[in-house]
Amino acid sequence: MVDQHLHTCFSYDADSGNTPGKVIVRAVELGLEGIAITDHLDPLWPDDEFPSIIDLAGYEKALTEAEETAARTAPGFHFAKGIELGLMPVPEALAICGETVTGFPYDFVIASVHSSPESPIDMEPFLTGRSIREINEEYYSLLFESLKVYKDYDVLGHLNAIDRYTDGYAPESVYLPLADEVLRLAVSDGKGIEINTSSFRYGIGDRGTPSQAILNRFRELGGEIVTLGSDAHRVSDIGAGLSEGAAMLRAAGFTRYAVFKNRKPTFVKI
Ligand SMILES: [Zn+2]
Ligand SMILES: [Zn+2]
Repeated sequence: MVDQHLHTCFSYDADSGNTPGKVIVRAVELGLEGIAITDHLDPLWPDDEFPSIIDLAGYEKALTEAEETAARTAPGFHFAKGIELGLMPVPEALAICGETVTGFPYDFVIASVHSSPESPIDMEPFLTGRSIREINEEYYSLLFESLKVYKDYDVLGHLNAIDRYTDGYAPESVYLPLADEVLRLAVSDGKGIEINTSSFRYGIGDRGTPSQAILNRFRELGGEIVTLGSDAHRVSDIGAGLSEGAAMLRAAGFTRYAVFKNRKPTFVKI
């Protein structure tokens, strides 16, 4: 299988010893057929206490070197130079995302929401003093408003990530209509979503990321592109949960998953 969501030492929240080289070695040891490294770019991140900063020049150089290393040491192993964008519907933030993606030959771009302009979605200011419905409405609106403007991505990352942070889970009647308009837009733009298998490690009730209902809906709407990724932030989580993710795909009626190179998907049977 191919794990297409991995963080290395270039992400502010990843293990500092987790170099791209170590990630490749571990992925090959595990028998994975390939990986995408997808470190964080979160423009205008509002939390000064835990800043999300990336040395972009250093990261892009490391990706180029890692691609050469993979080609030399593991012929046939699929290596993709990726990035995980943290979108927010602020023109300056989206412009930085766009310039970054066009400024380097990335193979794979994940678009996620990690923060509002005021607060990361997992922090008190975003989560306290309002209902789960209101929190979900703002979270999905951050994504939807961003995607109306921003199109230079391949898949949506951890679509229902907000479920991880609310006190209890929004019922389907609350979150599915909100996710629905995001999915419709993604499908009409020819984009995909990911199954982020980190949910099998930390648990969000009986729900995956996305939930099975979101995945089913994506297929109903004509969505075809789904990638699998562990979202590992340390070497020991690489490849975790990919088979559970594939089971979700099958349950939704998919027979294949997408693997990205040069921003284009090819499809692998499951
Ligand atoms: Zn993320
Ligand atoms: Zn991630």
